[in-house]
Amino acid sequence: MTTTLRRRPKRRTDVYAFKQRVRAWAERIGVRPKEIHVRTMTTKWASCSSTGRVTFSADLLGELHEWQEYVIVHELLHLHVPNHGKLFKALLAAFVPNWRTVAPRNRRGEAGLGLSRAAGTAAV
Ligand SMILES: [Zn+2]
Repeated sequence: MTTTLRRRPKRRTDVYAFKQRVRAWAERIGVRPKEIHVRTMTTKWASCSSTGRVTFSADLLGELHEWQEYVIVHELLHLHVPNHGKLFKALLAAFVPNWRTVAPRNRRGEAGLGLSRAAGTAAV
């Protein structure tokens, strides 16, 4: 019997189901991501490119459902609004009314908008 320390990828159905949820949210929000990827990401939970490619950390699939939803909506909203300004917060509150209870806390204990993997830091 052999064992491997290499992290196994999530089951295909999990990734498929996750991408389906991303597509459903994209439709609801009114954005059209060109590509949706799930891959290993060490510093962030998600990212998006100016060309409309949205990438999510594979680790997200093992996280709580409401955190997944927050990250999905957060990243898709960036296809509308590239920053974390007033418009972004207003849209986020419209789609995830309880986002402040789900979002990570910053050093002052306030709900932050960063999707960095490091706790207590603000990032894009
Ligand atoms: Zn962001």
